[in-house]
Amino acid sequence: MIPMVNLKAQYTDIKDEIEIGLAQTLSNCTFILGKNVQAFEKEAASYLGVKHTIGVASGTDALHLALLAAGIKAGDEVITTAFTFIATAEAIKYIGAKPIFVDIEPKTFNINLDEIKKAITSKTRAILPVHLFGQPVNMVAIKSLCEQHNLKLIEDCAQSFGASIEGKQTGSMGDAAGYSFFPSKNLGAFGDGGLVATNSDEIAAKVKQLRNHGSGERYYHDVIGFNSRLDEIQAVVLRAKLKRIDDYNQARRDSAHLYSQLMADLPVITPFEDKIGIHVYHQYTLLSERRDEILKVLQAQKIGCAIYYPVPLHQQNVFKAECKGLSLPITESVAANCLSLPICANINDETIIKITDVIKGLF
Ligand SMILES: *Cc1c(COP(=O)(O)O)cnc(C)c1O
Repeated sequence: MIPMVNLKAQYTDIKDEIEIGLAQTLSNCTFILGKNVQAFEKEAASYLGVKHTIGVASGTDALHLALLAAGIKAGDEVITTAFTFIATAEAIKYIGAKPIFVDIEPKTFNINLDEIKKAITSKTRAILPVHLFGQPVNMVAIKSLCEQHNLKLIEDCAQSFGASIEGKQTGSMGDAAGYSFFPSKNLGAFGDGGLVATNSDEIAAKVKQLRNHGSGERYYHDVIGFNSRLDEIQAVVLRAKLKRIDDYNQARRDSAHLYSQLMADLPVITPFEDKIGIHVYHQYTLLSERRDEILKVLQAQKIGCAIYYPVPLHQQNVFKAECKGLSLPITESVAANCLSLPICANINDETIIKITDVIKGLF
């Protein structure tokens, strides 16, 4: 059996360091907003090249609190992509704002700048691009569009920890960004966790207040907030992995390049790397008209593979009514033909050869 993600191998490598940190946390019993969260926030801010980071309970919360802190309100329109995980749009809906889904680029699967331009109305308040599968969106172009129209720019970096454009990290170029530490993400915790990154003192102060019941000083509450804190146990794990994130991402890139090299002669479209940035391959996703057949032969060999995402958001039951009549042809065709193969920091070359041999067998 070959899993999509092998978390166990990664754990084995750093077990000692993590267990020392966990034992210390368990014995001093500070579980919420202790010194590991503080240290992790500092280390993450320095890695990402941003002024502030704020640990929160999940990536979904990170996006929700970032949008709230950036001043997005009920009735506002937020332009985003339908080819993403549901959480991107959930965060917009929690506020009562309206996600406006626009089509993607056929090669990068990321939001299409020209489609964003067409969708801007007098109600548009923000753009929420997703660096999908770890491929950075062209932030330079989107940022200048946002400045021109006075829009907030909130990045969904759940899949792009460590990805960069012209030496700048994704998540450092907009007004605020949300990261997820769901265990299978490039930087994964041992449970749920998330992070808001921002260069704005104002947004940072608001997120800090919102994550902790709307309070600055304990038991004094200024706004209705949430219980959304990163916990110490997760911070211990994240500190150990953050030190190694560049190696993890380089290993993902090497694995992706081997896959693409081994499948170069097959009638499948291997992932495109936009040279504007460094892709960190949260997923290795190919396109093929025979996607369902490939899926079947891999499953028969007990090789993990998955369709991210089979149903774009505008066609999900929850959005069907509000998106009635909306057609996003590129999004729909990519959803019908995409297949993600196993990738993680610890997959070895023999495994990749075995997987591609099975696919070659089909053709
Ligand atoms: C994982 C993910 C999220 C949500 O993160 P959670 O930590 O699971 O809440 C948001 N957006 C995208 C694109 C994701 O992949």
